[in-house]
Amino acid sequence: MADLVVGKDVNDIVLGNIPVTNLEQADDLIILSTSPTGLQRKLDALARWCATNFLILNVIKSVIMIFGTKPRGLPDFTHYEPHSRLYSTGTYVGIRFQGRYGAIFRKHYDDKASKAQRVGRVICGLESLVGYFQPRDAINLYMALVDPHLTHGCEITLDTNATALGLLEKVQIAFLRRLLGLGQRSILSVLYTETGILPIRYRRILLALGYLKYVVGCDDHQLVKVAIRECTQLTAANQPNWLMSLREVLGKLPFQMQIPLFHVLPSADEIDALISSKLYLLRGRVDPATGLPAACKFRDYLNIRNAQHRKAVTKVLTSNHWYAIESLRYARTPVPPEMRRCRLCRQKIETPEHAMFECDGIPELVTRRRSFVEKLMLHCTEATTRQISDIHDSARLLTTLISLPDSMNVTAEYLWDVNSLFDEHPIYVPT
Ligand SMILES: [Zn+2]
Repeated sequence: MADLVVGKDVNDIVLGNIPVTNLEQADDLIILSTSPTGLQRKLDALARWCATNFLILNVIKSVIMIFGTKPRGLPDFTHYEPHSRLYSTGTYVGIRFQGRYGAIFRKHYDDKASKAQRVGRVICGLESLVGYFQPRDAINLYMALVDPHLTHGCEITLDTNATALGLLEKVQIAFLRRLLGLGQRSILSVLYTETGILPIRYRRILLALGYLKYVVGCDDHQLVKVAIRECTQLTAANQPNWLMSLREVLGKLPFQMQIPLFHVLPSADEIDALISSKLYLLRGRVDPATGLPAACKFRDYLNIRNAQHRKAVTKVLTSNHWYAIESLRYARTPVPPEMRRCRLCRQKIETPEHAMFECDGIPELVTRRRSFVEKLMLHCTEATTRQISDIHDSARLLTTLISLPDSMNVTAEYLWDVNSLFDEHPIYVPT
């Protein structure tokens, strides 16, 4: 289509001093006009070019859309069938638009959320055929197949609409919970701190900032650069545009940051500073509920080979287990923490570490603990044995055993074993 010239028109959209007569991507074509008569003149020009080049316009795949209010007395457009039908939505370069102001990209969010959800479910469904995925493999599949849908067009469609963004977040959260084997009550931040995956909201903002950096580096005559310069003028005049939306999404982030006014184009260095400040703040957080270091990082314990054992560990580390300390938090009549006693010994507060290393409520548990210690001694290096023998706090012992490569699998298996033993006894609810 290199020789396609639709021709300038008085009703063209003008960016800077450049009239934008038409846009092409491979064999996708858009012609733009600010008036119905202007559009008809362009359709005529396009029909002439098609006739000269022995081409026929695919009317079935063509759409006429009006952005904003529909003008009165709209004429029938010729070279286009059915003549008077207008579409409320249309797709160009994979992005679905609708003509309504304020919600131009809303359908795109719907499309992408439902596609991402479908792909996510297929990945999870595969486990019934091939067995449980190792978390690292599941994350690779997520990044290759789900993430592209969740981030599609995020450079253009900034997340100013919380409901639309929520659709994408819901898909990401459901997938990560499934991957880690966590329930609906699990704390959200652990989904990211444990897997190293960024919350989709931050990932989309970072990609958009990366796109801004690319645009800033473009040559001055390129349309996208001309467009972004117009955005700075609109921002200075307090008129809605892409840069104003970017300011809005940055301003909604839950931490303080220096956001440029965008009355002039930012430099690449300024954009880099924005990107790194956000990453620093995001990676530096600590979750107040768990006290877990919240740096987003793929955790070593996710390499535990057995999926059931691994999920048991994940639940304990992210406080998504059902030992009394956690499950009585949700009892109909609230039970104070000091009353959430162990179902076997009734002496101490029932926590996973109490169950694993302290409780002697039933002889069977003591026997299992003894065989765990024997197994541990067989698997551990001398250094690990020395390290753990210096620990006298059960909670610290548990986290240490789970963090070391030579002890994590044996400990996870033991935790699984203790879980099943506790499962055989009803939880103790004080009256
Ligand atoms: Zn006990």
